[in-house]
Amino acid sequence: MGRRGLLCACITLTALALGVGCDDGTPIEQERALGEAALAHAVALCEERPSRLAGRDSRAAADWIAARLPQEGTRVDAFETPIGTLANVWHCRVERPVAVLVSHFDTKAGIPGFVGANDGASTTGLLIALANEGKLPVAYLFTDGEECRVAYSNTDGLTGAWHAARSGQIDKRTPIIVLDMLGDAGFNPSLAGNGSAWLNALARRAAQETGVRVEDAGAIIDDHLPFVAAGYHAIDLIDFDYGPGNAWWHTAEDTPDKLSADSLAQTAAFVRRLIAILEQKHP
Ligand SMILES: [Zn+2]
Repeated sequence: MGRRGLLCACITLTALALGVGCDDGTPIEQERALGEAALAHAVALCEERPSRLAGRDSRAAADWIAARLPQEGTRVDAFETPIGTLANVWHCRVERPVAVLVSHFDTKAGIPGFVGANDGASTTGLLIALANEGKLPVAYLFTDGEECRVAYSNTDGLTGAWHAARSGQIDKRTPIIVLDMLGDAGFNPSLAGNGSAWLNALARRAAQETGVRVEDAGAIIDDHLPFVAAGYHAIDLIDFDYGPGNAWWHTAEDTPDKLSADSLAQTAAFVRRLIAILEQKHP
């Protein structure tokens, strides 16, 4: 090895020691392990709690989710409703969360064989994986009773979100980020048009900086609405394009084999970037 070779070796060793020059990949590639973990949680939820009907099986599902979260900072918030006892799950280990990440976990009634792999389990798995990683300064909210039984109204559907929004458990300034149906292989996320405009603008910036293509959806009925109604800043990221012509949505075709770790990794990259942007705005 000549002098030049020795110099190169020294620079390489110094760079390695400092962790400089290591190619960690794109923000999405960096989330690969997290995407796999999220997928594993989602599949397990579908296998072990296939029915998570609000007021009937959802309490057991809430306990299942709570058991998969770090014990510290986790609580099950059970509440009575005309359709029975519902239960949201909370997880928070920071004093002032930068945002609340929300996923519903209940399943839709009246569809034989429905396990809600993409619709409910996918983002629940993602939030469980992120909570276990423990790096984001956020609160996690798993809502029960998002699905309506007959038709969305003030008394049917979004029940867990209404309960959380009205309960005063979250500071009104804390942004609410609802994630729904973001785990299928055909990843085509969009932002609900009836979310908070400034938060949607930050979300579009986060998507652009992450390399995730996000479309604009029209008005969407989802868990962000009770929070908006209660005076929160809330948005909804949803991929409402599930199967040919959305044919797998709310059918027994919504099964774990349709899920993709890559889609969950993309969602994780987007969420991490959005939280970083929010942190810069409100340190
Ligand atoms: Zn649904």
